[in-house]
Amino acid sequence: MQDLAALIRAVPDFPTPGVMFRDVTPLLADAGGFARSIDALAEPWQGSGVQAVCGIEARGFIFGAALAQKLHAGFVPLRKPGKLPPPVVTVDYQLEYGSDRLEAQRGALKLGERVLLVDDVLATGGTLAAARALVEQLGGELVGASVVIELVALHGRDRWLGSQQLHSLLRY
Ligand code: IMP
Repeated sequence: MQDLAALIRAVPDFPTPGVMFRDVTPLLADAGGFARSIDALAEPWQGSGVQAVCGIEARGFIFGAALAQKLHAGFVPLRKPGKLPPPVVTVDYQLEYGSDRLEAQRGALKLGERVLLVDDVLATGGTLAAARALVEQLGGELVGASVVIELVALHGRDRWLGSQQLHSLLRY
């Protein structure tokens, strides 16, 4: 995983002062690194019968779509508000300042479909918790979640309630 860590750029004071932003775009631009990241994201879920990968907008789409191909699963986008045509199901969640919303197409998952959640970064865990609630509303059966980067100091994992595995490739 050391080689993948070398492809993550640390950007101080972005998007606001005091925040260290972890930028995955150099990893995506590196053919070998991107392929290895997808192999590593897929590895814990091989043979677990994942039928749908739900990726969180926007970078979760990139990793999620490639991962869905690798796992022979479909891909379902979980989107920011106002992007999907109706009918949609929505989940609102709290941010440090204010709130945000995730949406999915109603009927995007079949009842009991086995779902893996994917995003690039786990920070405070609010986004992933909202994504989980969305999958439950859609009637999916959550198998687990994978993120490329876990910011451990923000304790996002504590908001991952339930027994399903939450897997991360790199931890800072
Ligand atoms: P959380 O809800 O606080 O866990 O934030 C996670 C969401 O914010 C994910 O969808 C990430 O794409 C985004 N995010 C938070 N911190 C970073 C970062 O350092 N780099 C890239 N994305 C981030």
